Amino acid sequence: MSFRRTQSSLPAEGRLGRRSLLKAAGATAVGATLLSATTGTARAAATTESADVIIIGAGYAGGTVARELALKGLKPLVLEAQNRIGGRVFTSTYAGAEVEIGAGWLGPQQPLIHKELQRYGISFYEDVVPEQFILPGDQGFQTLNPSDAVTTLDQLWGEFYSGSENYFERPYDPLYRADLLKSVDPLSLADRLGQLSLSPTEKQWLNSETSVYSGGPSSLGALTAMAQWIQLAGGTYGDYTTTMSLRPEGGMIAVLQKMLAESKADIRLNSPVKKVTESGGVVTVETTSGATFKAPAVVVAIPTNVWKNITFNPGLPTAHQRATTEGIGIPHATKVWVHVQGNTPPSVAQAGEGSPILMMVPQVKTSKGRLYVAFTGPSLNVGNASAFKSAVQQLLPGSTVLEYRAMEWAKQQYTGGGWGLRRPDQLLGLFPAIEEPHGRILFAGGDIAKGWHGAFIEGAIESGFRAAGQAAELV
Ligand SMILES: Cc1cc2nc3c(=O)[nH]c(=O)nc-3n(C[C@H](O)[C@H](O)[C@H](O)COP(=O)(O)OP(=O)(O)OC[C@H]3O[C@@H](n4cnc5c(N)ncnc54)[C@H](O)[C@@H]3O)c2cc1C
Repeated sequence: MSFRRTQSSLPAEGRLGRRSLLKAAGATAVGATLLSATTGTARAAATTESADVIIIGAGYAGGTVARELALKGLKPLVLEAQNRIGGRVFTSTYAGAEVEIGAGWLGPQQPLIHKELQRYGISFYEDVVPEQFILPGDQGFQTLNPSDAVTTLDQLWGEFYSGSENYFERPYDPLYRADLLKSVDPLSLADRLGQLSLSPTEKQWLNSETSVYSGGPSSLGALTAMAQWIQLAGGTYGDYTTTMSLRPEGGMIAVLQKMLAESKADIRLNSPVKKVTESGGVVTVETTSGATFKAPAVVVAIPTNVWKNITFNPGLPTAHQRATTEGIGIPHATKVWVHVQGNTPPSVAQAGEGSPILMMVPQVKTSKGRLYVAFTGPSLNVGNASAFKSAVQQLLPGSTVLEYRAMEWAKQQYTGGGWGLRRPDQLLGLFPAIEEPHGRILFAGGDIAKGWHGAFIEGAIESGFRAAGQAAELV
């Protein structure tokens, strides 16, 4: 996390159109019922229902696929494991305020989400601007004014990302300079920190962020993963900080709700998928309740880390197996909403790698004080209230925690990780194969986006457009 500075298609003989699929499945009548636009809970089906395309997962990737297929005249069926849409987007309320349990912010340089905001007439506003920074110093923490802190951080990150303007000459086409990437893709964020001559304090200024993004040790995340974000944002760390500057009216869920409504998709909540089988030009999907569904194409729009929880037949290709075994979703992503008492200036606070809380970001004022978002490190047990409160006091001296609410994303059954951050060697090792269809089974998700991958709904939307195009060619 960062803070703001200021304010293919199959060969012809392999294609099976929708009509022939319904015939093949012997399910024309059932299909007609199924394809009515409803939102409901899982129903155990005695017969196999049919759809034009089945989408597994109702996050931003799945929602984009559903809307785009509907615009092409198709009627999608969405199977969602949980009792809500959104996945890693989860707008809620806490201490009387609208809060984001998952994804929280948009950036101005993300064209796809801005187009969606415009399409649905949803406005956005600027989030709270910090008035001071609390950062590691030579002897304990130091408080700095924003411009001093950002000037130094800009310079340090400039060194850290130096060269990325060359190996990501075209950041939306990350393999364009695959030749240059060969020597940098194996590097972790920790490797890169080790290459620079940094004082212990400077190192902590950087590794608090590389550790947050990696979900633990900075050795987990790839240098190329974060460097690509910097280049997508405009090239400087200051540009990148604006990716956490905007919030949509109605919360991060607002656009997805509109997308799914426009799609008129048949959405089945509480429908975890356990098996996906392709045979004879038809894909059959089975949920844990035993309900089965058939379609000429299926889009798997669930986090990469949980692909392994579904039995695929034929089995996943090598790149997909590798992605779900190694994981792209980070292994620790705990986001905590903290209600802090008192009228203190909104402060960004950071602590070095290994600290119980790595970063705190100021949010709205309340009648009793202010809300903060805290990103913890794996060493802190957020279930231990006294340990959590004392960790907050270390970062925000003199503060009193009134209450807090933590979400441990990596422990969630249908997420299996936090936001995505590619591991070393994954860019060259997984791409472009990870975006390719596996017969009639297609893959979407923010984790495997080409541009704003991993930690951005922008990437989920991008991958949804790609998968929708691939699916449309198969039906
Ligand atoms: C703590 C946190 C903070 C973040 N902050 C930001 C931010 O500030 N800005 C930003 O743009 N992005 C942020 N992100 C990233 C963003 O949330 C994701 O990139 C994006 O939501 C991914 O969308 P998706 O559709 O690919 O996957 P998901 O949102 O994970 O959706 C996948 C869906 O699949 C469902 N599913 C899983 N398994 C099954 C199954 N077997 N059967 C049926 N359904 C299944 C899940 O329940 C889920 O609903 C953050 C993420 C986290 C965790």
